[in-house]
Amino acid sequence: MSNRTFTMIKPDATKKGYTGAILDQIIKAGFSVKAMKWIKLSTEQAGQFYEVHKERPFYPELVEFMSSGPIVAAILEKDNAVADFRTLIGATNPAQAEEGTIRKNFAASIGENAVHGSDSDENAQIEGNFFFSALERF
Ligand code: ATP
Ligand code: MG
Repeated sequence: MSNRTFTMIKPDATKKGYTGAILDQIIKAGFSVKAMKWIKLSTEQAGQFYEVHKERPFYPELVEFMSSGPIVAAILEKDNAVADFRTLIGATNPAQAEEGTIRKNFAASIGENAVHGSDSDENAQIEGNFFFSALERF
């Protein structure tokens, strides 16, 4: 079990001004920030990040959305980080997310769902490496 995960606050949430409130909820849940940046992905970069979903019908929409505005990318640390962060963000579809989860609080739809959370230790490592150099993480 690794103790780091990777997150993005997605363009819907940054546009609506939820960045501060989402970070506050993450930190109050016991995660500490080990790397962070405010960045806008190109369509190529968004496509590469979500390459695993390339064959899914929603892929073009997802790439368009994820490159539509700035995001906050971050590496977070906590015991059992990957699983605990997935619990904190709630189900992919906010309509099915538990009360009090970040997606329940801030997400509009299954596509525009406010935050990303890595789904495994391996992907947390890969996704963190996609955004951050060794000089940018602590
Ligand atoms: P994420 O990887 O962003 O944390 P997730 O792991 O909960 O989300 P995935 O199945 O990995 O869900 O899907 C990646 C993203 O693709 C979702 O967060 C959402 O933005 C988008 N997505 C997934 N399913 C749909 C769908 N049916 N329609 C539109 N967009 C979707
Ligand atoms: Mg996922």
